Parts: sequence; C-alpha cells; structure tokens
Amino acid sequence: MSDDNLRLLILGAHPDDAEYHAGGLATKYRRQGHAVRMVSLTDGSAGHHQMRGQDLIERRRREAASAAALIGAESEVWNYRDGFLQPGIDVRLDVIREIRRFQPDLVLTHRPCDYHPDHRAVGQLVQDASYMVTVPSIAPEVPCLSRDPVVGYLPDRFTVPRPLRADVIVEVGNDLETLVNMLACHESQFFEWLPFNQGITHEVPVEVTARREWLRESFAHHLRSLTNRFRADIIAYHGPQRGEAIEFAEVFEVSEYAAPLDDTARARLFPFVN
Ligand SMILES: [Zn+2]
Repeated sequence: MSDDNLRLLILGAHPDDAEYHAGGLATKYRRQGHAVRMVSLTDGSAGHHQMRGQDLIERRRREAASAAALIGAESEVWNYRDGFLQPGIDVRLDVIREIRRFQPDLVLTHRPCDYHPDHRAVGQLVQDASYMVTVPSIAPEVPCLSRDPVVGYLPDRFTVPRPLRADVIVEVGNDLETLVNMLACHESQFFEWLPFNQGITHEVPVEVTARREWLRESFAHHLRSLTNRFRADIIAYHGPQRGEAIEFAEVFEVSEYAAPLDDTARARLFPFVN
C-alpha cells in the first residue's frame, strides 16, 4: 500500500453520477485515507417527474451529501441548470479553478461522447480545462498547477465513435455493499425518477429494506454486464484464472489530453490493482 496522500476529484454532470460510475474506486481511496471530492456541475433540477425547482435541488443536495458522508468524501453540487449545460467559457473557468484548488492526482469525468447532453458537456469541459490548468494567465486569481493531473473517463456503454478503452480495471466486489448504500441515499433517483423513466415504478418495493435489496439486485446486474463486456480485457490483464473470477469491476479510460498513466503513475494511483 502506498503511503502517499492521494486526491481524487470526480466531476459528474448530475448529483448521482460520481457514485454510480466510480463509487467503488472512491470507496477504495477513502479506505486508504485518500481525499475524495465528488462534484456535480448541474443542480439536478430535471431529475424528477413530480418534484421541481428549489425543493428538488435541495433534496438532491442532501442526497449527494448523505452518499458522500458514508465514505467520508466531500460533496458539492453546483448551480448550473440540469439539462441545459453547455461547454461555455464561464463553466470552463469554474472547472479550471476547481481542479487548481483541489489539486487532484486523478480526475474522473464523462466521455465527450455519451447519451446525455450534460454528460457530453462535462466531458468536453474537463478536456478543455486539462491543459489550461497549467497556464497562469488563464483565471490568474487561482494559482496554476505545475503539471496536469491524470484524467480518466468514467465507464459507459457507448460504441460510437468507439467503445471505452479499458486502460484501468478495478475489481470492486468487496465494495459493492457500500456502493449500493451510497446509491440508496439518492432516493429521488433510484427509487422514484429512474424507475418512472424506465416504466418500472411498479417493481420498486415500498418497504426500506426490500427496496434496498431490489436496488442491490438491479445495480449488481448492471455492474456484472459492464464487467462481462470487458471480460477479454480483464483476462488479458489478470490472466484466465483471476480474470474469469472477477464478477464486479469498474473500468476507466485515460485521456490523452492530460498527464499520461505511465507505470509509476499507475502504481501510485491504483495500488490495489495488481
Ligand atoms: Zn448523469
């Protein structure tokens, strides 16, 4: 185990994106005493079929704070309007300032190709900020970084222009219960809005323990199929015996627009991957 103090910054579009796509990695970081900060660029105000406006924004802020508190991470929800995010210069400057202030070793975000316009915008914004964090004349009120952090992309299922490349594979079977507990904090999403949007509201149990189990089943199914999609990469990396045995993994691609993930950086940032 590395005794370096690492800093992980997850920049998502919505208040539940960080946990959903990288909650296992975040949990491992916190367990080793590293700093984790989860930021949602939008206010989450489009994520419900019945609630609107400030009530929903405040509810989602509380949900994100509860989820982060479970692993002792920092949580912040910005005020950009959900569903309206564009990769403009004001938000780019906010992202540059955020990365400079937190001084992360690793930044995770969406790919700039994704089904959701807000996700695409965040991916573009982080890409646009990646080099600029080292340029002192841009946003001079916050001291610039001497070098870029490593920037990685959160796992997704999209294939155009090409599927996510499995540069990093993190086994998260031991973190699954914590991960599900974090997702369960986002009640408005996983028990209300997303089932409504998918037409499966009738499947969600009312009782708290039962619906947590229901969420566990559905998230395990999601993570298992993600893992199976990258099975060939997992076997190539870990060998057939261990590669076949891994049931739950988070997979990340490293951006070529920021610091490279050389062997030293890999050993430092992902010490639990061997
Ligand atoms: Zn999202």
